[in-house]
Amino acid sequence: MDSGVAARAPEKLCRRCKGSFDPSANTRLSCRFHPSFFVCRRHDDQKRYYELRDGDPPYAAKFYDCCGAEDPDAPGCATDFHRSYDDAQE
Ligand SMILES: [Zn+2]
Ligand SMILES: [Zn+2]
Repeated sequence: MDSGVAARAPEKLCRRCKGSFDPSANTRLSCRFHPSFFVCRRHDDQKRYYELRDGDPPYAAKFYDCCGAEDPDAPGCATDFHRSYDDAQE
């Protein structure tokens, strides 16, 4: 039997969140990610990381630059369509 059109598109891999997704169910809310990087603030001497002092908020040393989340595994603070490796680079 000749089936030119697949009933279900194969899952694709998102290059932003590294998750697999169904292209036919890809919406603006599908992909959660951080638009900025997780940063570790260096101490002034550049040899060690900034150490928290009393009164410093916990995100003063390590955090996502976009939203201030301190946990590297924190869920993304922004959502958008998943982007597969097949999509054109912007
Ligand atoms: Zn964020
Ligand atoms: Zn994604």
